[in-house]
Amino acid sequence: MDDIFEKIIKREILAHIIYEDEKVIAFLDIQPVNKGHTLVVPKIKFRNILDGDPDTLAHMMKIAQKIAQVQISELKADGVNIIMNNEPAGGQEVWHAHLHVVPRISGDKAYQKPTHVSCSNEELVEIKERLEKVLQ
Ligand code: AMP
Repeated sequence: MDDIFEKIIKREILAHIIYEDEKVIAFLDIQPVNKGHTLVVPKIKFRNILDGDPDTLAHMMKIAQKIAQVQISELKADGVNIIMNNEPAGGQEVWHAHLHVVPRISGDKAYQKPTHVSCSNEELVEIKERLEKVLQ
């Protein structure tokens, strides 16, 4: 069965579409964090950053940049967040990959500052060594 974003791509349900090309569609989030909050969605479905085709992900980011620029120029935003929630622990709720492009206004309370964990220098070194080894 089609997910909600596939239904938007097929025009089976309404959305406020602001951009479309052969690879992606971008439309306003129905529950915006700020006015102008936009989702950039690949037309070929994948779940998230973990299984996506890198070229499609790169194209999503390219379009997110364009949208960020017009949020600044047209909506007079002062800043922008680009966010991708991945898997339940990462806050993902819709199982069709998407980037959030969220305009920010100076002083808004759209997102709270993240919490931090303590991490010793030994732990930083150990994590670095584990990750760099498999990234070569
Ligand atoms: P998440 O999976 O947590 O990254 O976020 C999914 C996002 O999709 C939420 O911000 C929802 O408000 C948004 N959303 C869900 N259904 C629709 C819809 N029909 N039109 C626009 N945005 C939607």
